[in-house]
Parts: sequence; structure tokens; C-alpha cells
Amino acid sequence: MELNDAELQQFGKKLLQLKTDIEQLLTDSIDSSRPVDLELSIGRLSRVDAMQQQAMAKANREGHQRRLVLIDAALRALKGGRYGLCRSCEEPISLRRLEARPETPFCIECQTEREG
Ligand SMILES: [Zn+2]
Repeated sequence: MELNDAELQQFGKKLLQLKTDIEQLLTDSIDSSRPVDLELSIGRLSRVDAMQQQAMAKANREGHQRRLVLIDAALRALKGGRYGLCRSCEEPISLRRLEARPETPFCIECQTEREG
């Protein structure tokens, strides 16, 4: 099933919105992902806490950054008229899957194969 113009336009909007949201999240999380200052006069336990939080914030940021790369690729695909097609098998990706993750580059079969 191919996407019609209205659907393509809608996904384009969604992708741009996602990009803005994630860029905002990245900006907001700059501070929390900075290395923990070990000289800071906090107790040992709260230092461990702070380091765990920092590791989590870092992992989150890396996830956001990976997602941004996919979103940019999806926006390019949209311009090139290839949006919604699996990058691996070139079959159309299901609408439900695109709605859940508009930046996804693969159909569910290829994604499962890659993960497996
Ligand atoms: Zn595929």
C-alpha cells in the first residue's frame, strides 16, 4: 500500500514536530548528562545516585541522537519520494508501524530479522 499525498504531508509534519521535540529534549538534558563532579561535597550514596542518573541521562541522549539521525533520513526519503518504503526490502511499511514510529527505516519483517 502506497501513501497518498495527504498522508505523506501528515508524516512530514509529524517528523518535523518530533525533530523539534527531540532537539529540545537534547538541549534540556545537557546539564544532567555532564560528568559528575567528584569534588562536589555530597555524600557517598548521593554521589552514586548522581552517577547513575548521569549514566541514564547519557543513554537517553544517545537514544535521542540515534532517533534524530533516523528522522533526518526519513525527511530526506520524504523529499525523494521514497518515504514509507522499507530501506532493506523496499516493500511499503505498514501505516500502523509508521504511525507509531514515523522515522522507522524498516518494515517489521526486516526489523525483526535485524534484531534477531
Ligand atoms: Zn523490509
